[in-house]
Amino acid sequence: MSTNYIVIGNGVAGTEAAKAILKRDPQAEIMIFTEDHYPFYSRPRLPELLAKEVAVEEIFVYKREWYNKNKIQLNLNCRVKSIDPKNQRITLTDESNFTYNKLLLVTGSSGILPSIDGINTAEGVFTLRTVEDALTIIKRAACAKTVTLIC
Ligand SMILES: Cc1cc2nc3c(=O)[nH]c(=O)nc-3n(C[C@H](O)[C@H](O)[C@H](O)COP(=O)(O)OP(=O)(O)OC[C@H]3O[C@@H](n4cnc5c(N)ncnc54)[C@H](O)[C@@H]3O)c2cc1C
Repeated sequence: MSTNYIVIGNGVAGTEAAKAILKRDPQAEIMIFTEDHYPFYSRPRLPELLAKEVAVEEIFVYKREWYNKNKIQLNLNCRVKSIDPKNQRITLTDESNFTYNKLLLVTGSSGILPSIDGINTAEGVFTLRTVEDALTIIKRAACAKTVTLIC
């Protein structure tokens, strides 16, 4: 019987893990869940996107076809809100749920704002972690006169 794996996270760790699972278990049924809107892309290339040197698709490491070819079911825009280990089940924010034999958590990290008074309520403050962040910054920068960068 094939084993059904759920991988939460579609960054480099989740994607490489899915590849490693398939290598060991070619019959594996793998579902990847990510709250991201795009297939696996290179975060180090986000500054290129921000500088409008490349289009979004150009920073994809694997396109949709790669997942289809490898029979990996990629679920974009899916935020997992809870895990029920007893019943081996995950639940998404839209309340749909999925069961697994094996579960892998590769949820990475997220951008944090430095602790500066007022930063959490200030307009036009962003972190850069995702394609969505880059697109939002590009949009906002169009009407900005000055930019302060904190690295
Ligand atoms: C601008 C930028 C430049 C970088 N440059 C470099 C570099 O030059 N060299 C280098 O080594 N590293 C670099 N990094 C860091 C590198 O990108 C990270 O180390 C790497 O992305 C970590 O991969 P990961 O798979 O562990 O996590 P992530 O890439 O953070 O992926 C986490 C995944 O989990 C998903 N996720 C999280 N929570 C949930 C949830 N509840 N439900 C569903 N999905 C969820 C996310 O949507 C995402 O798909 C850079 C990062 C940035 C932002």
